[in-house]
Amino acid sequence: MSLSSRAEQAIRPAGAGGQIAESGTARACKVRLSGVGKRYGAVTALHSTDLEVREGEFVTLLGPSGSGKTTMLNLIAGMTAPTSGRVSIDGRDVTDVPANKRELGMVFQHYALMPHMTIFENVAFPLRVRRRSRAEIDAEVAKALRLVRLPDLGARKPRELSGGQQQRIAIARCLVYSPSIILMDEPLGALDKKLREELQLELKRLHRELGITVLYVTHDQEEALTMSDRIVLMNGARIEQMGPPEELYFRPRSLFAATFLGDSNILDGTVKSTGTVVEVETAYGTFRSSEIEPGTAGVGDAVQILIRPENFHTQPASAERNDNRVTGQMVNSIAYGGVTKTFVRLSDDKVLVVQELTKAGRMTVEPGTPATLSWNAGDGRILPPAKPAVSAAG
Ligand code: ADP
Ligand code: MG
Repeated sequence: MSLSSRAEQAIRPAGAGGQIAESGTARACKVRLSGVGKRYGAVTALHSTDLEVREGEFVTLLGPSGSGKTTMLNLIAGMTAPTSGRVSIDGRDVTDVPANKRELGMVFQHYALMPHMTIFENVAFPLRVRRRSRAEIDAEVAKALRLVRLPDLGARKPRELSGGQQQRIAIARCLVYSPSIILMDEPLGALDKKLREELQLELKRLHRELGITVLYVTHDQEEALTMSDRIVLMNGARIEQMGPPEELYFRPRSLFAATFLGDSNILDGTVKSTGTVVEVETAYGTFRSSEIEPGTAGVGDAVQILIRPENFHTQPASAERNDNRVTGQMVNSIAYGGVTKTFVRLSDDKVLVVQELTKAGRMTVEPGTPATLSWNAGDGRILPPAKPAVSAAG
């Protein structure tokens, strides 16, 4: 199926008027997946999955390529039929309802605008197939174009617009018929960094202003961290962990989650004692950590300590105060504008990265200079022993 016909399938209602299931409650459950899974022959694209998305939430499916993000989105959209489980929207079971009767908006990575139509006609399309009056179409298209801040481009053809503008038009076409949910599959993936950041802010603004439920797919962790109310982290066709951005960033429950989101320093060790503070013995000393999921590691278990680069302190005064200290040698220090990353080598060539605000006069370090890094027990996150690998075909 071509991209534009996929888009048409999603935005064209089956019968005149379509059906909009209304839900009045502010944080009602909007989308529910119960045991939803998808197989293609021997390939499991999505293992049996449970997920709830609440009304007005901005939920991001984040994960590496092939982790099942598009599959999950397409199962919700009705573009793909599940092999197992049920999908419901606004409390109604829609598992057997075709895409064009689900009244969802879809935005893809490639704009999927219809090249022969003007911008106005592209945006008007979903209203025309719903047989809205001419006056209503004029008013709603103008409103949608204003919302995406391109009010004057109606007469142009898609090829006369930049990539960023075309994607805004694709978003306008999706907003124009007021779907109650918008599904976006890597919508900014084809744009350069600056445009992407600009449109991220635009999408957040639209989400705030319209109070619409958004399900957003990206493989870009920064994008997920800045935009989402909640992140669903995918790995190997399953949900690895889900929660608000802060929770995924500061309380990852696996090495995969810890390293997929943000920069990380990982120290391998063995649990020496447990309690509110866990003591872990490593090749560089014994360290105290208070960030652990209760009951996930016992004495003698092999664990890892995660320390985010911004949680290391380099000042001698901090070393006195902090719970943990490690010594090494400066490798180098690189200022990225307002932040400086400093690399410190430990005894066995392990290199830790420290991130601090750039300070005048401290931008250069002499390689080989001894360095002491310190951190608090609350900033050392214990990652539990890895679970035995599950078969990918399971
Ligand atoms: P993502 O969007 O996270 O990159 P997908 O959901 O597209 O991942 O794919 C998940 C897995 O399912 C991949 O291994 C992919 O190759 C497989 N897959 C997806 N669609 C099909 C299909 N139509 N036929 C066979 N395998 C598929
Ligand atoms: Mg995909």
